Amino acid sequence: MTDSSARGGGVCAGADQYSSMSHIIVLMGAQGAGKGTQAQMVAERYSLPIVATGEILRKEAEADTPLGNGIRATQAAGKFVSDDILADVVRKRTIEDDCLKGYIFDGFPRTLPQAKLLEKLAREQSHRALVISIDVPRDLLYKRMEGRRTCTACNRTYNIYFSPSQQEGICDIDGEPLFIRKDDHPEAIAKRLALYDEETRPLLDYFSQSGLAHVIEGTGTPQEVFERVASVIEEGKGGLSAKS
Ligand SMILES: [Zn+2]
Repeated sequence: MTDSSARGGGVCAGADQYSSMSHIIVLMGAQGAGKGTQAQMVAERYSLPIVATGEILRKEAEADTPLGNGIRATQAAGKFVSDDILADVVRKRTIEDDCLKGYIFDGFPRTLPQAKLLEKLAREQSHRALVISIDVPRDLLYKRMEGRRTCTACNRTYNIYFSPSQQEGICDIDGEPLFIRKDDHPEAIAKRLALYDEETRPLLDYFSQSGLAHVIEGTGTPQEVFERVASVIEEGKGGLSAKS
């Protein structure tokens, strides 16, 4: 054990093993990889908040503050908020009390400067950054999205490959027709996957080099995937401190 394990000193009697080590958890994976589901499961199992940057930006933009005005102006111009503004917003949110024992990022980091900010935050806040990449074979990912059918009435989703409705094109619950959402059309899927490759590959390479990245297999049920995620988190006690 290195000095990083000595942080905090007094561990309460009865505290479980996780309370003495705090993590910033980043789940990476293409759309359809089940990132959102896993984030929820991790949040529940370890009682960690999900810090969703998109949501925080939306909230900040509503405020009549220099920061809020800046965000509104940027978004009104159809631009992405700068990494500096994002850094302010993320730092402000993650020093709140509920983040003391760690937190899960959603939608962050997306760029290399943001990845560096993640490491910086980990150092400042004495958390360990843990990047878990959920790897799903491309053809499976594709089928998960391309096979999705949504009920026009109740929004229930089916998948023609994995969980089809009893009668093709008809909702089991209410007998209404199913449709393919715009996002699930082949061109839209291809675009999203290409964007993911473009954005994410450099990040994954970066995190692999700094030893923070863990790639797990994203096939199987959400519960099966979660077991893998949990084992990374729980084995992460040693040697996964943020680069310093
Ligand atoms: Zn329905």
